Amino acid sequence: MSLLTELPGLPAPDPAKVAPHRFRALGGRVLVVSEPGHWAFLTRAEYADYLRGLGDDHPRLDELRVKGFLAHYMEFDRLAADGLDSSLLGWEGTRRLVLLLARGRERMSPETARDAVDFAFSVPGPAVVLEAAAADPAACWPAARFIAEYAARRSAWNGRRSRVWLRTPERPSPAQVREMRGLGLGLLLELDAAGPARLAAAPAASGAPASRALLRWRPGARPAAAWAAALRKAGYGSALVSPEAVCKTADAPAFAAFYAEFLDAALSEGPALREEWAAAALRRLPPEGGRPREERGGPLPGTDLTGELCVAPWGELTLSERALDLPSDERGLHSLGVVGRTAWEELPGKDAVGAVLAALEGSHHPLCAQCVYRNACAVPPSRHQVLQGLFWGHLPTSPACRAAMGALDAVFTRLASDEPKDGLLAWADNWTLL
Ligand code: SF4
Repeated sequence: MSLLTELPGLPAPDPAKVAPHRFRALGGRVLVVSEPGHWAFLTRAEYADYLRGLGDDHPRLDELRVKGFLAHYMEFDRLAADGLDSSLLGWEGTRRLVLLLARGRERMSPETARDAVDFAFSVPGPAVVLEAAAADPAACWPAARFIAEYAARRSAWNGRRSRVWLRTPERPSPAQVREMRGLGLGLLLELDAAGPARLAAAPAASGAPASRALLRWRPGARPAAAWAAALRKAGYGSALVSPEAVCKTADAPAFAAFYAEFLDAALSEGPALREEWAAAALRRLPPEGGRPREERGGPLPGTDLTGELCVAPWGELTLSERALDLPSDERGLHSLGVVGRTAWEELPGKDAVGAVLAALEGSHHPLCAQCVYRNACAVPPSRHQVLQGLFWGHLPTSPACRAAMGALDAVFTRLASDEPKDGLLAWADNWTLL
């Protein structure tokens, strides 16, 4: 069964007036997306009018002209610039470096931590975002503190903005919370959505963004609305609902339902709470009506190379954190070198880098090329390697694709109504990890 929707009984498009676009039946309307990523909801009758060729007095003409849907009114320079947001052509450098402070018995040494921070500051881009990950923050506290202090010093030396997050499933102790405030070290708390909602107090320093949560969905997850309420109560401003545990296509509907419920809860009245995956996906599309946006474009969280690189405790630099869980015979392609010895400038010469960039380009996948969500979406190649044993993935049977499609259906269904639409677009427009 195709994941794409069909609309039988429509007129043949007029090639002189209908520009290339993709469509999906959603929420009783037709979602259309143009090549640069502008979107619009049309009634079925409006879509039929559009395919026949809109007359100059049609009420949707101006909107569809500006958004690049009309072949006879294309403004190529402006539309090409708009399309950069979802294109690799606009990519500046890896968005985030994950530093695994411990794995098994291995602990990251201060030398490796320093080399990893130096590497992060060598990656081009507007800012440096470091995620120091530790299952036991007490055991890794000296390394986390060193990374926060050294990154702050490097920022002071060269004027480049940086932010360090401590990612941990354990609530930091009150003493650590106080120290985190002093260091400006943000908390990214990992939560099992099927587990108890034991949330640490959010230790944001004044002027720093609120603490974040990484909410890992899995079968049996507790209600999303309860999670959103608990996060708000504890002072968290941002959460990433992770689809990583969607390992079978049969899991995708339950994940999508949880995701949709979380969006509704986060968009409801109350203290600000943003869902990060939706914000990142929408930021890949051109701003609606030229709205100002803090940062444009960018990868989805957890996307190999473009969205993240990972440093293992022993200094190995990998395309993603997932790569470290791959069997040894699949791991080689995902390993890029060692921090302190491998420079950012060497990466374009690595086979893996060309392969990952090719695999991330939606137009290279037959299903993505026809999918209405192509501009907003990208499934990490390492996720396909884990799930399907293929770097490239097989989209029609991919649990990752099903999860992404379910999440994007939830996002776009809410974009069809004014109130959730404004809240969702505000998440994208005000996005920053700093
Ligand atoms: S991976 Fe994303 S863009 Fe590709 S078909 Fe699936 S939902 Fe669509």
